[in-house]
Amino acid sequence: MIPRRPSYQDIPLYSPPSVQCSVDLSDNTNLFGMPPVAERVLRECATSVVSRYPQTYAPELKKALSSYTGFEPSWLTTGCGSDDLIDCCLRAFLEPGERIAVPDPSFSMLSYFAKVNGLQFVPVRLRPDFDIDVDGLLATGARLIYVCSPNNPTGTVASRTALERLVDAAPGLVLVDEAYAEFASDTYADLVRSRPNILVTRTLSKAFGLAGLRVGYAMGRPELVSEVEKARGPYKHTGVSERVAIAALTEGLPWVKARAEEIKEIRGRLVEALKAEGLQPLPSDGNFLLVPLPDAPKVAARMRELDVNVRAFQGLTGVGDALRIACGPWPMMETALQALREARR
Ligand SMILES: *Cc1c(COP(=O)(O)O)cnc(C)c1O
Repeated sequence: MIPRRPSYQDIPLYSPPSVQCSVDLSDNTNLFGMPPVAERVLRECATSVVSRYPQTYAPELKKALSSYTGFEPSWLTTGCGSDDLIDCCLRAFLEPGERIAVPDPSFSMLSYFAKVNGLQFVPVRLRPDFDIDVDGLLATGARLIYVCSPNNPTGTVASRTALERLVDAAPGLVLVDEAYAEFASDTYADLVRSRPNILVTRTLSKAFGLAGLRVGYAMGRPELVSEVEKARGPYKHTGVSERVAIAALTEGLPWVKARAEEIKEIRGRLVEALKAEGLQPLPSDGNFLLVPLPDAPKVAARMRELDVNVRAFQGLTGVGDALRIACGPWPMMETALQALREARR
């Protein structure tokens, strides 16, 4: 008999359509690449970085994150991508069988992490204006409420008024996912100082261009951070990832900030171009646009034949079918627009 956990029987593996297209706008990574200094450090890593264990709990990385975020190292923890931090938080703060409340639509990984941790996943529809439904989230009684802002896949944000009211009234932890913070007009890390029950996660996978390195981090009071570190374990990054991440967070920072500004400009141009095609992208604070479009999966399939990959969604709550298009260098956007035009004919 194969040993296996009964509740794991119907868990599918994460499998976004894996296609090779010359223009791949499907996963919101930095299409400008990575900071040149990070690339240099990657090439020049000493062999000792690989043959020895990294330091436990990544103190050097925390130091670099501390100067970037303004939080002392004891207010920071890191993970193998922010996906891993979300997983660690669910394990750290909830017992199997408990509920986790998550806005709908939001980051698709949450239902998966809920399941592998034996939790009850309770989706709560976003409001018609795409703000979070504070009363709906609170009514679940969940001791952990997840909020993604800017939200993947909509690109919309949770308003400050709503989020503050949620954190103040929540019976437990509010986990705010700010994977797209660098592209947003408002972020909520300041609530970490003023409230005892909020953790904010971020990542180097998006604006920093290091998705393949798997480095994420979270900001929270030391009492919360130490709980997450129990679930996390001592080694979550390779020594190489740490070195390259530190370079990106320090010397690489001007590059990251300049590219983020450029991407925000391109986002505005892409909105106008899509409107000229008769489409209505949702207002976005991320490095991507969600474009409601009937039969989006079919349109995306045709676009892939034209060598452009975008992410298609079917029947998203409150949206319907839609394409999610990452913003990158303008020539890529022009190629994508051309493919979209042809695919819709
Ligand atoms: C991309 C993304 C992440 C980042 O995941 P990593 O594990 O850090 O690569 C986290 N949350 C959301 C909403 C995302 O879109």
